[in-house]
Amino acid sequence: MDYAEQIEDEGGAAEKKAAAWREETVEERIKHALVKGIVDHIVDDVEEARQASDHPIDVIEGPMMAGMDVVGDLFGSGKMFLPQVVKSARVMKKGVAHLVPFIEKEKEKSDAKGSKAKVLLATVKGDVHDIGKNIVSVVLRCNNFEVIDLGVMVPANKILEEAKKHEVDIIGLSGLITPSLDEMVHVAKELKREHFTQPLMIGGATTSRMHTAVKIEPNYDQPVVHVLDASRSVSVTGNLISKTLREAFVSEKKEEYQKLRKQHESRSRRKEYLSIGKARANRLQTDWSEREPVQPAEPGLHVYEDYPLEEIRNYIDWGPFFIAWQMKGKFPDVLEDEEYGEEARELYEDANALLDRIVKQKLLRTRAVLGFFPANSVGDDIEIYAGEEREEVRTVFHMLRQQAKKRRGQPNRALSDFVAPKDSGVADWMGGFAVTAGIGAPELVKKFEEEHDDYNAILTKALADRLAEAFTELLHQKVRTRLWGYASGENLSNEELIKEQYQGIRPAPGYPAQPDHTEKRILFDLLEVEQNAEITLTEHYAMSPASSVSGLYFAYPEADYFNVGNLKRDQVEDYARRKGMTVEEVERWLQSSLNYDPD
Ligand code: SAH
Repeated sequence: MDYAEQIEDEGGAAEKKAAAWREETVEERIKHALVKGIVDHIVDDVEEARQASDHPIDVIEGPMMAGMDVVGDLFGSGKMFLPQVVKSARVMKKGVAHLVPFIEKEKEKSDAKGSKAKVLLATVKGDVHDIGKNIVSVVLRCNNFEVIDLGVMVPANKILEEAKKHEVDIIGLSGLITPSLDEMVHVAKELKREHFTQPLMIGGATTSRMHTAVKIEPNYDQPVVHVLDASRSVSVTGNLISKTLREAFVSEKKEEYQKLRKQHESRSRRKEYLSIGKARANRLQTDWSEREPVQPAEPGLHVYEDYPLEEIRNYIDWGPFFIAWQMKGKFPDVLEDEEYGEEARELYEDANALLDRIVKQKLLRTRAVLGFFPANSVGDDIEIYAGEEREEVRTVFHMLRQQAKKRRGQPNRALSDFVAPKDSGVADWMGGFAVTAGIGAPELVKKFEEEHDDYNAILTKALADRLAEAFTELLHQKVRTRLWGYASGENLSNEELIKEQYQGIRPAPGYPAQPDHTEKRILFDLLEVEQNAEITLTEHYAMSPASSVSGLYFAYPEADYFNVGNLKRDQVEDYARRKGMTVEEVERWLQSSLNYDPD
């Protein structure tokens, strides 16, 4: 209290200064609120402006647009950062929401407000991730684009239909998992087949300039542009709709992608690949006669329901959270960053305030299942046995092996190398897990969206993702120290956990060490994930709720993450046989991992 009294004066001065903007004209106040992202008075101010205007639409086209122009300029020139932009958008949305009924009464259509252009955005079929897409949507709206957002899991025919119906100017596709890459190619082909004329924008975590150049652009006659992140979306869309800039922009991109394709071709020709037989001969060698794998202390399945969020939140890795908001930098250093430290601190405060609420009111719920099973490798497969006698095979996981020629002494690895081969006679084990912290997230997001609060909607999703990863880290620690117990003496700080300075790994199907998402089905059957953890798989093996993580546990002391890299056709044929799939099916799922063109 002493301290509070001491600083009261300062605080009072700041408050006075803060309130000074309230003395300005209503136009200035609206502009100020938008630029600063202050929602408190926006409805009153907009109402005041409306009463003073001939038409309610004038308020949007006048002071609100003027404010958003400033926001767009500041963001474009790197003087404003993403969280601030999203907060500005929230002010805009609240203001517009207040005006809409008046506009409709005047029978003016809200889309008659003369936006720059219409952009359709969709997360493609089979994929559920939309944080990035939603951010792009907010950023574009801030820049006076009209956005038709079709949400997640949108099939190609729906994208085509809506693009036609709304007469959009640009189509933007988003996705996170690798099967979405192939789905995007499919959408491009469909657009071409139906003679669409709109340019196509591509974005999302696994997309790349190279993939866009090599796989997508050749399948569509119209401009195709990869958009690296939300901050680039404005300049790309701006260029694509500009009468004066478009031609030069498009031909520049075309040239760039042409070059990339050439690069890709010569690179893959230069790289030397081994036959699968030779790669296997160079597997990671282990003298199993010298090793005795630790038997799990508690084999079988472990199910967790409503694990306390209070405990989980201590395991959060905040690094990826700031990356999601396009603030790169190590945590906690990012909070002191010269450029955006202040904004990062504010974001961190907002996130923790929402997290407090989520924890206290149990707005998100967690579920998890994990288990350990007797296992041995057989070639590049891992057999899971029904019992410890290891007589009956319960299920088989299939692994892929690196085929790129290695330097002398470097093995061609596959995850199966981390499990003792059956013919070694060593009784080894493997584990698996599926974890979610996203139960309840869609409802909470919806509530915020109904309040025109994109900021908290996006925050919710980002936090649910963080909690899912944190819960995964927490459970992995339990596994190492108790449930499997192969590292019972481990004692690591959260920082050391984040750096993964422990024994063993938890690779996720669909990630570089096993890029095949379809292996998730085998894991989900083994753990009965649908019943035990309330997580389901989409037709492209994305997990729903989106804030979910799954993977395998390996205890092998030298196990680490690696990238399988590109595959030759011989391994693809062999893999198809092992999985009981056709070669074409495997090629479709592993499209982005092939070293050849299946077409
Ligand atoms: N602290 C991070 C943890 C997740 S990222 C966070 O909060 O986001 C790291 C995880 O990604 C690993 O634990 C593993 O599950 C997965 N992963 C990383 N590299 C991988 C690879 N090469 N193959 C398979 N999975 C990988």
